[in-house]
Amino acid sequence: MSEVMNQAPLLEVRNLRKLFQAKSSFFAKEKTFIKAVDDVSFTLMPQETLGVVGESGCGKSTMGRSVLRLIQPTSGEIFYKGQDFMKANGNELRKMRADMQIIFQDPYASLNPRMTIGEVITEPLNIQKRYASKEEAREQVLKVMEVVGLNPKYYNRYPHEFSGGQRQRIGIARAIVLKPSLVVCDEPVSALDVSIQSQVLNLLRQLQSSMGMAYIFISHNLSVIKHISDRVMVMYLGHVVEMGEKKDLFDNPSHPYTQALLSAIPMPERHSTRKKIILQGDLPSPANPPSGCIFHTRCFMAQDICSTQTPELKDLGNGHMCACHFCGQCKKDQ
Ligand code: SF4
Repeated sequence: MSEVMNQAPLLEVRNLRKLFQAKSSFFAKEKTFIKAVDDVSFTLMPQETLGVVGESGCGKSTMGRSVLRLIQPTSGEIFYKGQDFMKANGNELRKMRADMQIIFQDPYASLNPRMTIGEVITEPLNIQKRYASKEEAREQVLKVMEVVGLNPKYYNRYPHEFSGGQRQRIGIARAIVLKPSLVVCDEPVSALDVSIQSQVLNLLRQLQSSMGMAYIFISHNLSVIKHISDRVMVMYLGHVVEMGEKKDLFDNPSHPYTQALLSAIPMPERHSTRKKIILQGDLPSPANPPSGCIFHTRCFMAQDICSTQTPELKDLGNGHMCACHFCGQCKKDQ
């Protein structure tokens, strides 16, 4: 990884925001906006895996899709391989998109039931006009099917004939057939049985080392994030609250929210003295986020200052960032 860290970033995201207009009553005087992603900045190096974790509704999937412009961001900057992705359009956008792919959570919903597996995996090649003849396209697809562990004789079968794990392999084949440099993996194993999850995670790791791709790996499951990530970004209510190297973040979580998430991971007996931190209340509405620190309504260490002043994302060293007025000081018994 150290050689990679000396290279230029593959992706730079600066102050990314995505607001959705909320449905409001006929008599409402002002429009209400849901801040799904608010002021998110990060970089991603080639071949790196950035794990993105947080509760359901924290904006992690919207962030992943906004980075690919599958959802148009409201504001912010995205630089991909040094090029301004927000300003790209037409042919340039099509070319950049070919290098940035996504794997979805529900492989069945993301596969057209009327298309054979061969057709599904050929589709990106068609859109990008990446073959000289139909035979060449078929050869490429058969090769990719083999790489992801699908028997090439399934080429003419339909999605409903496959198990969940096999469907996710089809989704992966479709994502990698254009040999992208970046893949956003949006909860790719959440819908799978635990035994199948590890097979798919191992496949993603093998593909990363053989093809040199970088991943933005989105999951609500910290064990999965720990298994696959190089760095981890923790999101809460559309904001980044902590980010750092996996080891720094898991060994020394500095934000109370990260501490609460980590305390919920089942531990072997030797760590059984660690107490689970139960967060009070529900996730506040992103249409009306709390003032000051967005986490103060649920934080076990909140002080007066927390409800009035917004903490900045501070660097604690080694790129370990934390957005808390009392970074590292606020440890509950673990
Ligand atoms: Fe908790 Fe205050 Fe830190 Fe926010 S700033 S995480 S409320 S201690």
